[in-house]
Amino acid sequence: MLVNFNEMLSRAYREKRAVGSFNVYNYETMRGVLDAAVEMGAKPVILAFGAKYLENMSLQDAYSMALSLSRQRDIPVCLHLDHCSDLDVVFQAIREGFGSVMYDGSALPFEENMANTELVCRIAHACGVSVEAELGSIAAGEASHEGSADDREVYTDPASAREFVARTGVDALAVSIGTVHGLYKGVPNIRLDILEEINEALKKPLVLHGGSGIPEKTIHACIRGGVSKINVNTEMSSHAVSELSKRLEGPKLPHLSVLSLEERSFISDVVKKYIRFFEVL
Ligand SMILES: [Zn+2]
Repeated sequence: MLVNFNEMLSRAYREKRAVGSFNVYNYETMRGVLDAAVEMGAKPVILAFGAKYLENMSLQDAYSMALSLSRQRDIPVCLHLDHCSDLDVVFQAIREGFGSVMYDGSALPFEENMANTELVCRIAHACGVSVEAELGSIAAGEASHEGSADDREVYTDPASAREFVARTGVDALAVSIGTVHGLYKGVPNIRLDILEEINEALKKPLVLHGGSGIPEKTIHACIRGGVSKINVNTEMSSHAVSELSKRLEGPKLPHLSVLSLEERSFISDVVKKYIRFFEVL
């Protein structure tokens, strides 16, 4: 069934777990994520449809497919609009039936980000839709397909985060504490001290972007520090692409339908790995 992420995340926050938010943009990625969630013991899961994938699939198609696939499985599924700085697209996703939206005004001045987020919250909440916003800025690592190489890391300031959440009424806040979009160049330097301060100030579900490649121990420390939603994108893509490229090396090329099945299973492999990380504390 399709749900909004509020109940999922507040429960995960209380129980010190995190819900995986996995990027999807076609049938294979949606099936891969949902099959993994069922196989791992009917775990709640977030299908994150990035606004940047609108050329792959329309909001309406993403909703119809997520609705149909979730009806066939007995797990709570949230269809979420990931990273969107365009208010029109955010409102369209709310109209289409998305369970949550991430309005990303992190590149705007603080007051403007706050005013826009507050407007999104007012409209979304009236429609039963949850809202995620971002404060601070997340840098781009290696092989990143999100953001741009010029993205600079600006850590989230705990005092500003408190004011932002109080004034906007946002349901979950994406924080910048040293994670990057893409893969890490070395060992990630995650500022758990900043996370702890933000968690103390907000007592609300926090969101970690750039989950790909963070060591399990660090993920667990972040979950204990209030992170209840963790986004994974890059590793799903890089694992599937590198495995699929091996299938193209032999003398006989496989049929596209076979590659499509394999894509699903490579996506599932990565999703299962992270669901395991997010649950076992
Ligand atoms: Zn992100």
